[in-house]
Amino acid sequence: MFRLLHLDGRTALQSGDHWHDLAAVAGDETLASPMAAIARFDELHAWQAATAGRVADGLVADATLLPVVPTPSKVFAIGLNYRSHAAESAMELPPAPLTFTKFPSCLVGPHDDIELSGPMVDWEVELVVVIGRGGRHIAEADAWSHVAGLTLGQDISDRAVQLTGKPPQFSLGKSFDTYGPIGPALVSVDQFPDPDDIELWCDIDSERVQHATTADLIFPVAHLVSYLSSICTLEPGDIIFTGTPDGVGMASGRFLQEGEVVRSGAAVIGELANRCVKVGG
Ligand code: ZN
Repeated sequence: MFRLLHLDGRTALQSGDHWHDLAAVAGDETLASPMAAIARFDELHAWQAATAGRVADGLVADATLLPVVPTPSKVFAIGLNYRSHAAESAMELPPAPLTFTKFPSCLVGPHDDIELSGPMVDWEVELVVVIGRGGRHIAEADAWSHVAGLTLGQDISDRAVQLTGKPPQFSLGKSFDTYGPIGPALVSVDQFPDPDDIELWCDIDSERVQHATTADLIFPVAHLVSYLSSICTLEPGDIIFTGTPDGVGMASGRFLQEGEVVRSGAAVIGELANRCVKVGG
């Protein structure tokens, strides 16, 4: 098991309330880069074990957490991957994963601000899969062995931009700077009692707006990895936003307001808390 963080510009392993500098634990300075660490995810288990009995480098609560996957080559995102969300969107169930991209420059840390781009900005809590071992034509039965771990994300969306024109184009409306909070940690798959049944939720301030389990995914994680790898070569550090359940703002006409805090959570992984701010204000 391991719990990987990206804090103060370096990779760290979390142990309880504390963190250990990964490069120091492993004696390899190249591991200061989270992308290098993710590509060696098989070895992270042993380095995590090596933190036992070592003096920690600091308290997680005192650190600035950055996006745990800062520079992936690809950020896939899946639309309408829960029946409940397809129903509230009045859309048919998709015959294959409806895939778009969020450009990597939208990624921010678990406590960073969301810079509102207009009056129709919406929330979407999602399980995020992080590829550790790349490949092409990965069989569904082998797919989990290519996953470094899981984290949590918000697929923040400017609905006005997303739904302009016919057909709509999702990628830019979901790629404004700050529209991809992820974290707080990259958690190894072996820590989940069932990695295909993970509870996740989203609160706006203290009001619960989304609550579901990934057991309800139309296309589960192994299928997504296999399907995407049939088209693109997957590389270590590539990430997949797996889709959001029902309870997004657009269904009720409510959108994010300046000052509101989007609180997203998932079992085992932890929580994101992102405050909404006005751009330039
Ligand atoms: Zn989404």
